Amino acid sequence: MHTYNHWINGKFAAPSGGQWLDTVDPYSNIAWARVARGNAEDARLAIAAAHDAMYKGPWSTMTATERGKVLRRIGDVLADPKNAQRLAEIESRDNGKILVEMQGQLRYLPEHWYYYAGLADKIQGTVIPVDKADMLAMTLLEPVGVVTALTAWNSPLAFFALKCAPALAAGCSVVLKPSEFASASSLEFAAMTRDAGVPDGVINVVTGLGQEIGTVLVEHPNIGKVTFTGSDTTGAKVYEAAARGMKRASMELGGKSPNIVFSDADLDQACVGAVAGIFGAAGQMCTAGSRLLVQNSIREEFTERLLTMAGKLKMGDPMKPDTEIGPIATRPQYEKVLHYIDVAKADGARCILGGGAASGPDLGKGLFVEPTIFTDVTNGMRIAQEEVFGPVLSIIGFEDEEDAIRIGNDVIYGLAAGVWTGNIGRAVRMSKALRAGMVWVNTYRAYSFMVPIGGMKHSGLGRESGIEAIHGYLETKSVMISTAEASPANAFLQR
Ligand code: NAD
Repeated sequence: MHTYNHWINGKFAAPSGGQWLDTVDPYSNIAWARVARGNAEDARLAIAAAHDAMYKGPWSTMTATERGKVLRRIGDVLADPKNAQRLAEIESRDNGKILVEMQGQLRYLPEHWYYYAGLADKIQGTVIPVDKADMLAMTLLEPVGVVTALTAWNSPLAFFALKCAPALAAGCSVVLKPSEFASASSLEFAAMTRDAGVPDGVINVVTGLGQEIGTVLVEHPNIGKVTFTGSDTTGAKVYEAAARGMKRASMELGGKSPNIVFSDADLDQACVGAVAGIFGAAGQMCTAGSRLLVQNSIREEFTERLLTMAGKLKMGDPMKPDTEIGPIATRPQYEKVLHYIDVAKADGARCILGGGAASGPDLGKGLFVEPTIFTDVTNGMRIAQEEVFGPVLSIIGFEDEEDAIRIGNDVIYGLAAGVWTGNIGRAVRMSKALRAGMVWVNTYRAYSFMVPIGGMKHSGLGRESGIEAIHGYLETKSVMISTAEASPANAFLQR
């Protein structure tokens, strides 16, 4: 069994408490590796390394152009097919997501690094035509400080890129703590970045349980910003702790996204979008279209189509190329999904597909849940209000646009929404009316490193991707310089 240690200051470091955590393959249900169980001391060591690298080491003296070149080489490391394959296999083994999806993510991730590589030396302040004589006023954009990045288990290397690429481009250094359920890929990748010329201490990865190592990572005085991806419950705790230290914070949290199908839509496309939107990654996506809102006039017909398509999905070994649905990533998550299925049944929703745990010869000892569809769901039911994070879809009928907007927005979350319609005016009206950080029209789950993504309401704050993301890692400093020959004697009276 492979043992992974922390990555601190450019080398692997054993946990100071001498303890490790098993990391389990959710398909075989067997521990395939163990990762360091970090504690406060490990967190302090990583923060010290990051702080020195940023304020004393070469990172702060490098030009932004040179930093950009380092980021470019990080992209190259990921673009190497050998590295990409190895990392994709580790991620599939760790979180049970199908290998073809992780390979797809890995193929795309270099672009993310290249984008911020190019942006590093294009971030600039302004000169302000200030309303004072003999004065030059300008703004400088400076790195916010050492960044703590806390991430979830469903796409570890994507989160690594979403957080670290803009942070590094801004000139920050980073301490990343991946989920205790899927830490291995982040550790291996961090070690690879050394070959890309990342100076020691600029990227550090510590592992362990959030409640054991998280406090120091969030509250340490040398941390300038906390960026978090995970559940809204944990996010609220982290945000509160960050606020106590007046840390900058951004939060990428959960969702209960409406995927809305109008009768004028291309129903073939909409059906594919609805199925992919909830059963892709076995529903373990923050943006899962878990509430399918279907116009009443087509509800029956559309439900039939959906049943036919979803009923054919192939569950199995995530490493096999024809598998469409892998296991649930962790036992607690598996139990949570099954619990929500029971809650939905008890609340009166009608299960028309799946509805329980799955087992069979192709499913090994995996933690599988059947693709599950509920009808007769009302938006007030828990299954329509709370994030399940599994392959469970609720179908809710609506009459017209106004009804769709009302139901679509009637949740505490606001991460994503889908709209399927052939009417351009309606597409625009719906895009404006839905309270979500991302609205997809006639598509679902489309992402680009150029397009900001993030949540409204309980789905979080701040945005990742795009130019906007880098501003989350920068502080504006204003500088006013007197150009007068001599300072006016009454300077202290000036306003
Ligand atoms: P989680 O909240 O349990 O954990 C997230 C991270 O926080 C982990 O690294 C965990 O160890 C750490 N953590 C836990 N307690 C902590 C504490 N007290 N202090 C500091 N860190 C702590 O989330 P999860 O189960 O790993 O991920 C699933 C959730 O993530 C879902 O709700 C999903 O919607 C959300 N998610 C959101 C996005 C997004 O971009 N909006 C993307 C993916 C997942």
